[in-house]
Amino acid sequence: MKKTFDAAISRLGPVLDLIDVSPEVVARLSSPSLSVTVNIPVRMDDGSLRIFEGHRVQYDMTRGPAKGGIRFHPDVSLDEVTSLAFWMTVKCAVVDLPFGGGKGGIAVDPRGLSRLEIERLSRGYIRAIADLIGPENDVPAPDVNTNETIMGWMADEYAQIVRRKVPGVITGKPVALGGLPGREAATGRGALHVFGEWLSRQAIDPGSLRIAVQGFGNAGYHFARIAVENGFRVVGLSDSRGGIYSSDGLDPVKVMHHKQTRRELKAMLYCDSSVCEEAEHEKLSPEQVLEQDVDVLVLAALENQITAENAERVRARMVVEIANGPVTPEADRILADKGVTVLPDVLCNAGGVTASYFEWAQNRAGIYGDEARLAERLGKVMEGQARRVFDLAEDKQIDLRTAAYVLGVGRIADAMHATGTAEFFANGTP
Ligand code: GLU
Repeated sequence: MKKTFDAAISRLGPVLDLIDVSPEVVARLSSPSLSVTVNIPVRMDDGSLRIFEGHRVQYDMTRGPAKGGIRFHPDVSLDEVTSLAFWMTVKCAVVDLPFGGGKGGIAVDPRGLSRLEIERLSRGYIRAIADLIGPENDVPAPDVNTNETIMGWMADEYAQIVRRKVPGVITGKPVALGGLPGREAATGRGALHVFGEWLSRQAIDPGSLRIAVQGFGNAGYHFARIAVENGFRVVGLSDSRGGIYSSDGLDPVKVMHHKQTRRELKAMLYCDSSVCEEAEHEKLSPEQVLEQDVDVLVLAALENQITAENAERVRARMVVEIANGPVTPEADRILADKGVTVLPDVLCNAGGVTASYFEWAQNRAGIYGDEARLAERLGKVMEGQARRVFDLAEDKQIDLRTAAYVLGVGRIADAMHATGTAEFFANGTP
């Protein structure tokens, strides 16, 4: 079953009608360059052996090394990882990073594992894919349910395998191991740059908006936190177990503190508690958050959240996609008919990989910059590329997702054309 992937590449259709590319570009972008499935044996704390299935997909490497995170989630499948690798390819091109796209994942619920079991699984995954990765060919990073601690173990395992330090093999590492201060907040911060740019273009006062955020992991939390610090009002927050609402606005830092302190530790890396245990506010189910009467809905959880089934019930006027693929193509059409503006994932959530690029470049150069300078560079990239997408949408009278794809796929096509095509060779000119 390739349901998510088929839907993901169906987005290319309308884009290719708008730009002049060789049919070879379409052929090359329609399937991944390399997909690997590995089975990782892990010794559990009770002495038993469990085998975990993992994947790594390198989708396209024309513009540079494959780049993309590693996800730990029970629903991880080759279909999902391939779709995510495709989105990474487009995303890296939309913000003009010298990367192709890749993605990895392990089908596991990490909340059921101890800290040591997670460490053994993380190291086992790197042993399984070590021949595929490296700073020049494929550079992993964190994604859903993985974090800097896990990236640190993975970088260390890789160093042991190749018998030298190669910090540029993986990004999102702890600062002590060559990571970038501010990398953790970069996805949320980057999305806010894009959102802010859009609001100022439309002359909308940020303080006038009621915002709900679905997903209170790394990206959703930092987006909500930085938004509130900048005078936005976040009225709804949810995670996989439930949500809370307050028309006066919520304090994301307090909610996170509550979530963290109420947790029952199983793996110590993960919080088992939920935002819905925050007692003082109105409670919502995770589905209700999507249908809440707000102005802006921020999707920061997983793919396929707004579908043909629930799109009609979305009441927000604007959707900000921080997760990868949270709105299906059918839902996109329904939202468009309702006049809802969607700020697309391949632009909005590119702040994480942009910070990863700074980390990778620092690791390879051996020169390290300060956090303020990096935050400034992140803002420049995100706002600059957002403006290009918004200009394109205006010029061509197309929606923002199509405009982002026109920009990204256009850049990938330029690189493919530069390597030579049948049309080029048929012309007989050097
Ligand atoms: N997992 C993040 C994403 O989906 C970051 C990837 C990276 O830094 O390579 O964009």
